[in-house]
Amino acid sequence: MDSLLAPTVVSAARPQYQKADPVPFDEPLEKLFGAPTAKALAKGIGVLTVGDLLAHYPRRYAERGELTDFASLALDEQVTVMARVERVNQRRMQNRKGSILDVVVTDGTSRLALTWFNQPWHAKKLTVGRVGLFSGKVGEYRGKRQLSNAEYQLMAQDGDELGALDLEDVVDENAVAEFAGAIIPVYPASASLPTWRIAKCVGMVLDTLGDIADPLPEDIRTQRDLMGLREALIGIHRPRSLVEAQSSRERLTFDEAFVLQTVLAQQRAALDRRIAIARPARTNGVLATFDQRLPFELTEGQQVVAGVIAAELARPHPMHRLLQGEVGSGKTVVALRAMLSVVDSGGQAALLAPTEVLAQQHFRSITSLMGELAGAGTLGSTDQSTSVVLLTGSTPAATRKKVLADIASGTAGIIIGTHALLQDSVEFGDLGLLVVDEQHRFGVEQRAALTQRSDVVPHVLVMTATPIPRTVAMTIFGDLETSTLTELPAGRSAITSHVVPTADKPHFLDRAWERVREEVAKGHQAYVVCPRIGDDTAAELSSDELVPFELQDQVPDAQEPAYETASVLHLYDDLSNGALSSLRVAMLHGRMKPDAKDAVMRDFSDGKIDVLVATTVIEVGVDVANATVMVIMDADRFGVSQLHQLRGRVGRGSAAGLCLLVTHFQADAPPRLRLEAVAQTHDGFALSRLDLEHRREGDVLGASQSGRRSSLRLLSVLRDEEVIVAARDVATALIEADPELAAHPALAQVVHQAVSDGVEFLDKT
Ligand code: ADP
Ligand code: MG
Repeated sequence: MDSLLAPTVVSAARPQYQKADPVPFDEPLEKLFGAPTAKALAKGIGVLTVGDLLAHYPRRYAERGELTDFASLALDEQVTVMARVERVNQRRMQNRKGSILDVVVTDGTSRLALTWFNQPWHAKKLTVGRVGLFSGKVGEYRGKRQLSNAEYQLMAQDGDELGALDLEDVVDENAVAEFAGAIIPVYPASASLPTWRIAKCVGMVLDTLGDIADPLPEDIRTQRDLMGLREALIGIHRPRSLVEAQSSRERLTFDEAFVLQTVLAQQRAALDRRIAIARPARTNGVLATFDQRLPFELTEGQQVVAGVIAAELARPHPMHRLLQGEVGSGKTVVALRAMLSVVDSGGQAALLAPTEVLAQQHFRSITSLMGELAGAGTLGSTDQSTSVVLLTGSTPAATRKKVLADIASGTAGIIIGTHALLQDSVEFGDLGLLVVDEQHRFGVEQRAALTQRSDVVPHVLVMTATPIPRTVAMTIFGDLETSTLTELPAGRSAITSHVVPTADKPHFLDRAWERVREEVAKGHQAYVVCPRIGDDTAAELSSDELVPFELQDQVPDAQEPAYETASVLHLYDDLSNGALSSLRVAMLHGRMKPDAKDAVMRDFSDGKIDVLVATTVIEVGVDVANATVMVIMDADRFGVSQLHQLRGRVGRGSAAGLCLLVTHFQADAPPRLRLEAVAQTHDGFALSRLDLEHRREGDVLGASQSGRRSSLRLLSVLRDEEVIVAARDVATALIEADPELAAHPALAQVVHQAVSDGVEFLDKT
């Protein structure tokens, strides 16, 4: 059926507009389309420049059958057909006043009658030979199908002036291309900016597209069998076949991975050229003594990672390593050993924790692991020791002064603290190693605040307990090399998790409190976690509980629930006067005074409290081995990784841990299913994938939290593993051979642009 129309349509589908000058990618759209259209593009789809517009890729392509063909027109149906005007006849009505416009259109094989009553002006537009989309309800007149008073949009034809085109009235030529057997791109659009108008604008840019310097080096393109950039841009917006669309997508997807990995490779290379002080291990220092005193053997994984770290510390270039491992996998011990080895070489090591509670917790567990090795300067200390100090926002002024002096003089070998360590008033004597705990709460910017103060850079070790799939790590933390602790130390007992559904089985909650009483009767302790504090202030959680960074959970279906969710203040009252009145119950939340928080944590550690009713303030790093049960109220309010992190607080000792996920949701509601998944698997990586799959790509990369737009349009850091790995390999090799990209000016330009756009994960390290 294409035979008749095909030749005309194809040439018309790619009209040659007069404006032949290539348009630079950073050109504002106003110049091209005029202010109203430019405004609509900015408002509707956030597109500002020619480059933005070309990167606004179709979401899908309409299949041919989506336009009704003549053969299948059914009576009374609303249809849209594409056709060419074949005959036009204007006549007066016989018995009444008025006129009738009869138009016959054809799709190349059959004909269709169109009729307008008393609208003679259509004759001016509907001239013989014009092609357009016609839509209306199928009627019948004298046994023949016809459309009355059809709506229509005509395609542009040769001779239409660019400026004179009425975008509202002229159909996208791509739609016409469909007629010739090609396909129609469907763009992410908005109500005021329908997809065909976007297609029209894209088309106008494509028609003026000159030669583009291809940033992808020729040999990489050949090696991966990718098409050229110009070809790919045309092919993704105006594919002649779905195969062409797909290869175009592949090329442009690779570009996204490649530019990103080139930026990261450049950053790694720049870091590697920087000077750090080599900190080779000593066989007779504090570390050696520490190892002798350690009450357990390092796991095999810990030993391997320790070896890698020791080798990197011994180099005169900064280490830059990410250490991943589940909560309790023994990261802190590995980090502490690295810190001690730096102390052995005469330097200082700092441990940066995301919250006050965690900093205090680290301080307590590190000083207790070190024992007398942490007692330098005190009576009876040996020279086989160093001094460990703690600096947080709530360190009292007098102590703070002394601590700052010890940090500056180098007396303090190990410094533990929060963001307070990042302030300019903190001057280090000789900072050799920076350990950042729970990286996802810190921005790269904050890491930079400590590492960019002097020409000599400290070694950096970043620890995270949120398992990050490999490709996500390569993208977000692409400036870091990665190590992973996969096994838990022996003697750790398993955690069992159950969903406690209160909707269908309210008495299950009583049973949960009974389990808490049973555990306490056995001499153990319990956590009860609530999603709210409950003092009804607008900002419910304090900054300790709000988690600003990349991998922190978002609850995928987080609408405000209709019922009242559990809060620390209310539940604490209820439990201490009710189900748990026989136990010692205390509460902990982010808006308590720091010393009150500290006192509660200490009492809980010392076993003076049986049950701690808390917010997620306990989420990270709290380590009380005697705690064996955790009840998480309204567990559906938390994200998958967060739940996993939370339950890592129980079962840290030799007794088995139990985690109860309480929810109001019915059996087959999605939040309930998510909880069932959490209850059933304890593989942190699997859960982290599950969690990430619920998010949009920009959220995976943290761009949405920072308010910046992700530069990734096509690339999925979860699905495109092969692409990311390959791009990383070729980018690394390229930068090794040509660090400044001197031989690749087009790539250098794109990379420079990406860096100055300052996408979150591309920031300087
Ligand atoms: P993470 O920082 O990964 O959460 P930690 O280093 O805090 O883990 O270790 C959790 C607990 O396990 C701590 O009490 C620590 O002393 C202990 N631990 C660490 N490594 C081992 C090991 N190899 N064998 C036994 N216990 C260990
Ligand atoms: Mg830890």
